[in-house]
Amino acid sequence: MTSLLKNHTLSIVVPLCNEATIIGAFHQRLICVLDMLSISSEIIYVNDGSTDNSVEVLKTLRLQDTRIAIVDLSRNFGKEIALSAGLDYTVGDAVIVIDADLQDPPELIPTLIEQWQQGYDVVFAKRISRMGESWFKKLSAYLFYRVLQKISVIDIPMDTGDFRLLSRRAVEALKKLRETHRFMKGLFTWIGYPQIAVPYERDRRFGGESKWNYWKLWNLAIEGITSFSIAPLKFATYFGFVTASAAFIYALVIIYKTWAYGDPVSGYPSLMVVTLFFGGVQLITLGIIGEYIGRTFVETKARPLYLVKDYEPANTLDSRDTT
Ligand code: UDP
Ligand code: MG
Repeated sequence: MTSLLKNHTLSIVVPLCNEATIIGAFHQRLICVLDMLSISSEIIYVNDGSTDNSVEVLKTLRLQDTRIAIVDLSRNFGKEIALSAGLDYTVGDAVIVIDADLQDPPELIPTLIEQWQQGYDVVFAKRISRMGESWFKKLSAYLFYRVLQKISVIDIPMDTGDFRLLSRRAVEALKKLRETHRFMKGLFTWIGYPQIAVPYERDRRFGGESKWNYWKLWNLAIEGITSFSIAPLKFATYFGFVTASAAFIYALVIIYKTWAYGDPVSGYPSLMVVTLFFGGVQLITLGIIGEYIGRTFVETKARPLYLVKDYEPANTLDSRDTT
């Protein structure tokens, strides 16, 4: 493998936000793996608007390691965009996307590269365990992936994060997808090309804390569904048909009862229930439509995905400035 790698270059993309306490440890573990591989590489740290001293830590590291490039975004854009920004700056034949919190073990990188050399364009790491996460998070993740797989037009693999290897042509394909609402797991799958999973154990966070809370995860779930499926809109239509038909049948029953038995008009409570129920249903379906219109609105503005405050290239590979 080593001889084959001589002619190839590798880019590592690490999006990070407020990780000053663990960058050092992460970098150490990463370069241990890279040094073993003897492949020329660059490590692109994307600072996603950290409010701690992450940038200073990165700059100090860069003085000691010429493989480091720093892309400093103008503010926090969110991990998905930070990752895309990193991809824009890569030049390697293969690109690895990895989190800075050591939940994605860098030791898996040689395995990812082996699969890439077998001809796969996307080699994604698939979690077989999720350590240090609550049963509720595990259950909601489990359900989310299964629902998404059922209703989306593409087959998004379950239990995968962003930790993966992408070939050059896969990266070039991803760079063409400039939508503002980015559900990366979906986009990775959408591009197609030969893809393969490599199982791994997901570790606990090494330090610092997760930026995800349940509200953000809920929003990510909505993002995933609305980016890759219009099933909720169809659901609204069919639900409307079903309830309207039920109401029509019920109307016939009432007319028949009045005609046959001369029943007095039945009470106010049932009227209230029906009115409130349909009021609710209408608001919910309007909300669903709103989610899609809102996204259309944001996309039509066609703003740049991110802005870069500062870029310091690596000195190992021929880096190019894409701004
Ligand atoms: N991250 C980022 N921007 C953000 C939030 C997170 O670049 O707005 C980075 C973070 O520093 C880490 C990676 O994305 O390197 C994964 O974040 P986190 O560990 O919070 O997510 P989890 O592993 O809990 O899904
Ligand atoms: Mg994490």
